[in-house]
Amino acid sequence: MTFHGLRRSADFSILKVIATAVFGMAALAVITLSFLVWSTWKIDAVSTARQTQMASYVISRFRFEIAHDQESVTVWDDAVKNIREHALSENMAWIHINLGEWMQTYFGHDAAYVVDPEGKPVYAFEDGAQQDAGAYASIEATAAPMLQQLREALRGGNPIGVEDGIDSPGFTDFRILNGRPAVISLKPIVSDTGEIEQVVGAEYVHVAVRFLDGPFLKILETSYDFNNMHFSLTDEADERKAALPLVTNDGSVMGFVVWEPYRPGQDFLTSIAPVLLTIFFLLGGVVSIFIAMLYHRAMANRDQETRIRYLASHDSLTGLLNRASFETLLDAALRERDGIPAQVAILYLDLDRFKPINDTLGHPAGDNVIREVGERISKLLPPHSSLCRVGGDEFNVLTPYRQIDEVEALCTAIVSSVSQPIVLEGQNAFVGISIGVALSPQHGTERTELTRKADVALYSAKASGRGCYSIFGPHMDAMVRERAEIERDLRRALADRSQLHVLYQPKYFAATGEVGSVEALVRWHHPTRGLISPVYFVPIAEEGGLIRELGRYVLEEACRAAAHWPIDNIAVNVSAVQLRYNGFAMEVMSILAASGLSPHKLELEVTETAWMDGSETCTANIRALRAAGIHIALDDFGTGFSTFGRLHETEVDHIKIDKMFIDGLGKDRGDEAIVQAIVELARAKGLKTTAEGVETNEQNDFLTRIGCDELQGFLFAGPMSQEDVGTLLGGRSDTTPRRPGLRKSPTIKNKIGG
Ligand code: C2E
Ligand code: MG
Ligand code: MG
Repeated sequence: MTFHGLRRSADFSILKVIATAVFGMAALAVITLSFLVWSTWKIDAVSTARQTQMASYVISRFRFEIAHDQESVTVWDDAVKNIREHALSENMAWIHINLGEWMQTYFGHDAAYVVDPEGKPVYAFEDGAQQDAGAYASIEATAAPMLQQLREALRGGNPIGVEDGIDSPGFTDFRILNGRPAVISLKPIVSDTGEIEQVVGAEYVHVAVRFLDGPFLKILETSYDFNNMHFSLTDEADERKAALPLVTNDGSVMGFVVWEPYRPGQDFLTSIAPVLLTIFFLLGGVVSIFIAMLYHRAMANRDQETRIRYLASHDSLTGLLNRASFETLLDAALRERDGIPAQVAILYLDLDRFKPINDTLGHPAGDNVIREVGERISKLLPPHSSLCRVGGDEFNVLTPYRQIDEVEALCTAIVSSVSQPIVLEGQNAFVGISIGVALSPQHGTERTELTRKADVALYSAKASGRGCYSIFGPHMDAMVRERAEIERDLRRALADRSQLHVLYQPKYFAATGEVGSVEALVRWHHPTRGLISPVYFVPIAEEGGLIRELGRYVLEEACRAAAHWPIDNIAVNVSAVQLRYNGFAMEVMSILAASGLSPHKLELEVTETAWMDGSETCTANIRALRAAGIHIALDDFGTGFSTFGRLHETEVDHIKIDKMFIDGLGKDRGDEAIVQAIVELARAKGLKTTAEGVETNEQNDFLTRIGCDELQGFLFAGPMSQEDVGTLLGGRSDTTPRRPGLRKSPTIKNKIGG
């Protein structure tokens, strides 16, 4: 997955978290608000119930008090007496004062009447004054049934209307009088002493009227803080109004007392609403800021996390997948689908000639090469392929295929693309690439096995000249096995040393034809494989970590042999790997000391690639060796990447021109000019030159003519045994051994190659 892909998936989960948080906050706000509204509603309901209770109590009290007020005048001997003689004007005056006027002024009754046992009115009081008794007619229709009910109860001995606080019977009830709600109370006028005889049920009856609307409701309103209290025949109760039904003695609803109840909850809510809103806004603001901060923090963490994940799975230089993530990908790609094994190719790619570029032009240039190669390969990959950098200058490609031709075409395209020059610091650099291929399922279906086989195929591609691809074949495994066997055998050979020995090839001064020095060349007689060339086993020794021991063996042999030879020096080949050992210079010095050979008589031949190594240990070793007087020769000059320009920086005393150029002499390839330039330049820098691989008289003549210092080659002598060198140098005290001339000595020729 790309960096941006990783980021998008992380974005989505952060948004999910934030959306959940916002939703949670909103839900919390709604719940809080709902709870608040619910509690205010509940408070209001409780308060309204209280007010209804209060109104109910006050009204029932009102009704009770009318009967109670009446009792103060209706249970009274004087009243009985006066009413009996009501025809007399003084009695009527008494009645008016006590049963009419008094009731109004003292108790606030609105009207009062007295009716005789036949139900006829004898007295009427209305509108604050005595009226004609006939005024009773206005209420008679309502009062008459009540009167009848009362008399029947009295006659039946039923103590109707007697209750706690009211001792005399009576009939009190709600009624509508002339459209107004009222309490009508009827009480028989009876003796308080019991001394006046009366017929039960045939008493005079006092009728009191008190209207509920008007002053009463006003008093109720102001005394108990009711709002807009009024009477209504219908139930007007709604969310703003409360209504108390007025229930008559027979259970029917006569009407309603209606008011706008006090709602403390709503009042509270209204009064705190601005504060609440402000708090909500502030809280919302704080929460928003908090969420924004959280979001930014999460984004920053996410970016960092994504970056860490990206870095963990990608190569920082090229941005390609790294080995670990490639392996995961490969495992997934190799998994069977529906029982069918995956058909994928694994390409193991390794740059050719990369190290010299890295060494000569520096690591930044090397990095550019790696990046450029990565890009070139990426562009060639078919869909669903992956490219990873496994390290250094090695890449892996995973690509699905149908026909093998597709894989071959891809390899050819990669090899061709990478072989195109890469521009570095304005110069064209040439690298190549070698590719090893393993195919699933035919070469295996398991990652490690396939990668190993691709690596083996790569080795084979390298061995067959680089800049090509090679598809794994079973013979390659055999080759790898053989190498492993050779390594194992070489280890044994180094332990007992009987199979190893050193030959020496003379080098002749061109000017005099005298033997100036000899070069030590190692030989290995394998018990079953016969003679194995150092060209083959030295790299195996290098890779297998045996080169240090092999090198020490050759150096010891050569120094011991040369200690008594009358030559300028003995040349010993040294591998770049040896120069990378920290104590190499010290080791050489101790071998010299043990052999008794003077440091001035030792020359170490180092190949160009060792020079290019540029490692500090390598440079330090060479400096230390030169400081001790040991000469350093640059072997196979011209095959590597040394430029003339760099020669002066190089800690070297001697240049050995590679056989490749000597072979080219006289072949119209322009090699004469190159060789001459090398010789002249070396001379100008004070360096000695040797031409190696001289095989013809023409080469000999040319090299001698241009002033090459030393010549070495089969034309004069091949590598020979220590004894033969002794023989060759033996006569030196009297006659200096000279170049054998144009003819190879048969004795010497026989020794070539062993
Ligand atoms: P080199 O150091 O360039 O040695 C010269 C090689 O050229 C030798 O091969 C030598 O036998 C061969 N040679 C000399 N004159 C002629 C000629 O006229 N014509 C032809 N065709 N070949 C000629 P050799 O001994 O097989 O060694 C090959 C390489 O193996 C050496 O190349 C050197 O790089 C390496 N080598 C040999 N011995 C040692 C050793 O003791 N240590 C290390 N590190 N490398 C060694
Ligand atoms: Mg050499
Ligand atoms: Mg050489």
